Amino acid sequence: ATPTAVMVATGVGASQGVLIKGGHALESAQKVDCIVFDKTGTLTIGKPSVVNTRLLKNMVLREFYDYAAAAEVYSEHPLAKAILEHAKKFHSEENQIWPEARDFLAVTGHGVRAKVNEKSVIVGNKSFMLSSGVDIPIEASEILMEEEDRARTGIIVATDQEVVGIISVSDPIKPNAREVISYLKSMSVESIMVTGDNWGTANAIGKEVGIERIIAEAKPEQKAEKVKELQRSGRTVAMVGDGINDSPALVSADVGLAIGAGTDVAIEAADIVLMKSNLEDVITAIDLSRKTFFRIR
Ligand code: ADP
Ligand code: MG
Repeated sequence: ATPTAVMVATGVGASQGVLIKGGHALESAQKVDCIVFDKTGTLTIGKPSVVNTRLLKNMVLREFYDYAAAAEVYSEHPLAKAILEHAKKFHSEENQIWPEARDFLAVTGHGVRAKVNEKSVIVGNKSFMLSSGVDIPIEASEILMEEEDRARTGIIVATDQEVVGIISVSDPIKPNAREVISYLKSMSVESIMVTGDNWGTANAIGKEVGIERIIAEAKPEQKAEKVKELQRSGRTVAMVGDGINDSPALVSADVGLAIGAGTDVAIEAADIVLMKSNLEDVITAIDLSRKTFFRIR
């Protein structure tokens, strides 16, 4: 393609809300044969909300949510926002104050810990409970599995080293996610999902969107490692993500695509920004590249 053709294509992309940061990104996009998708905020809407609560101890919901919300109050995580939003429902409009939290600690990919009303409160996933020395009763494990099978994330709440309940959070998939994955398949592009969320929820979401290859419970470096592993096997890899935890993988990929509504760090790390945050524009970008470089397949 001539420099003029590249310039025209970049302009066409921009007019459609697909920001291509250079000729190299445009050229690489036509060679892509597999795409690694982040789950939360990329395949899903990214606005989780509480859909169910299961109490295991003799405690009223309001008291339970006071502990959970107090512990999550300093967390930036979308799951924390969902818990706080729900906890408000147990308080009147003018009395939305939680007990004071001290010694707050957030552990990436695991959850939060804080001291609330002289109790030590831990909110997070199974591996966080295990590493904190909290036993998970069989009843709780069963609830977690049930919820994960329904594509929900189960968050465990423990006070003084004892599991007191489970909060189920749902983050629905984007309405066109399944269609986009299926269309990519027809373009001979394979889709893979990587997520920090647990295996059960990841598999259930995979089924909903039509992705078979899944890597769950992945830390940011492991997301990037997966991209590199695919590259070593000869694939040309695109990565689509929205979070800080996706940035290493966005940088490693042959083409990194950021969701426009995502974090600044992800947008910075990407080669292409999908300004409308529409998954369909992954196809727009590949199409534009294929047309510009006249690749015959
Ligand atoms: P994702 O790829 O889904 O954004 P994260 O690495 O942010 O993954 O989080 C992984 C998991 O860690 C979450 O699914 C949740 O179980 C747990 N977790 C992380 N932060 C929190 C929090 N503030 N409160 C409760 N659980 C959390
Ligand atoms: Mg995400």
